[in-house]
Amino acid sequence: MPDVKDLNLEELEDVFKKWGKPAFHAKQVFRWIYQRGLRDFLKMSDLSQDLREKLNKEFSVSSLDLVQCLESSDGTKKLLFELSDKSVVEGVIIPVSDRVTGCVSSQVGCKFGCRFCASGLLGFKRNLSVSEIIDEILCIKDSSSENKLTHIVFMGTGEPLDNYENVLKAIRIINASYSLNIGARRITISTSGFIPGIKKLQDENLQFELSVSLHAADDKIRSSLMPINKKYPLKDLMKAVREYNAKTNRQITFEYVLIKGLNSDLQNAQKLVTLLEGIDCKVNLIPANPVKELGIEPPSKSEILIFQDFLKNAQVNVTLRKSRGEDIDAACGQLRLRHVQKK
Ligand code: SAH
Ligand code: SF4
Repeated sequence: MPDVKDLNLEELEDVFKKWGKPAFHAKQVFRWIYQRGLRDFLKMSDLSQDLREKLNKEFSVSSLDLVQCLESSDGTKKLLFELSDKSVVEGVIIPVSDRVTGCVSSQVGCKFGCRFCASGLLGFKRNLSVSEIIDEILCIKDSSSENKLTHIVFMGTGEPLDNYENVLKAIRIINASYSLNIGARRITISTSGFIPGIKKLQDENLQFELSVSLHAADDKIRSSLMPINKKYPLKDLMKAVREYNAKTNRQITFEYVLIKGLNSDLQNAQKLVTLLEGIDCKVNLIPANPVKELGIEPPSKSEILIFQDFLKNAQVNVTLRKSRGEDIDAACGQLRLRHVQKK
């Protein structure tokens, strides 16, 4: 049976019209599911008995199985979800002062195989459906203290722009006032630099945040870290970013994971400054989470601070992120990797 969470409001309204029912009931169904967390059509008390039964016959309201929940000493929680085909994906809850950020996956595995990322290690299996992405978000909200969820980042497993239609549809649904009502400015899409997706995004009429995982400002180094750079090299990527800036008037965030011995010396910092000249952006520096299987380690504290200071002195808008949840394998893909390894 199709999951009703794969439908947006207009689609559910169309279903009701086809059934000869008033379209406004669709909004009531959305409120029950997204705002009150109800998964049983038969209990939707403001719908006619007839409509409840019809919905129950034609649609399901599935949920994911939460198979593991680990809490870090810093409050970060890592969740492992099992999908109906037994695939597993992971989500993270990151509480920082009055914000609660949910980090969601967009695919089972990842095609892009970055050298520092555990998600790519197991290869790519499939895209997540709209309802699976939404289920992750609902499950994250349920698992967070006081059911609080203020921000969403697509920084779990997978490349969101390689699952473009489903990710954008899910975003529009959770953004709606009759649903979770998460403001577009509180939703971040992170991409490894998938240019066709960046080009499409600039025409979406939605104020979400865009993060580009850069990690190196030199084609040779970036290609060795991120194979996607061979297809979409820095020159083309930066052209697409400039176009995005110009077309949307929105600032881009660049993520730069600092990895010992690979991209963290002053020569790399200088190249980064040059690359970003004239671009409306900020930079997030993230010390690499160690991944044993990949031989990845963060640089020393002093090397990280020297890199950051160099950018600051060059007037780059830079923030140093703390690694969070290291004690629970919170880096992208690590928990799933351990889970699959144990099987
Ligand atoms: N595929 C998209 C979205 C996933 S985001 C992208 O790459 O942007 C996953 C984020 O986690 C990326 O910014 C990635 O660089 C980061 N990441 C992956 N492995 C990491 C590690 N070992 N330490 C720190 N960050 C890591
Ligand atoms: Fe895929 Fe992003 Fe991990 Fe690269 S960093 S392997 S693109 S999830």
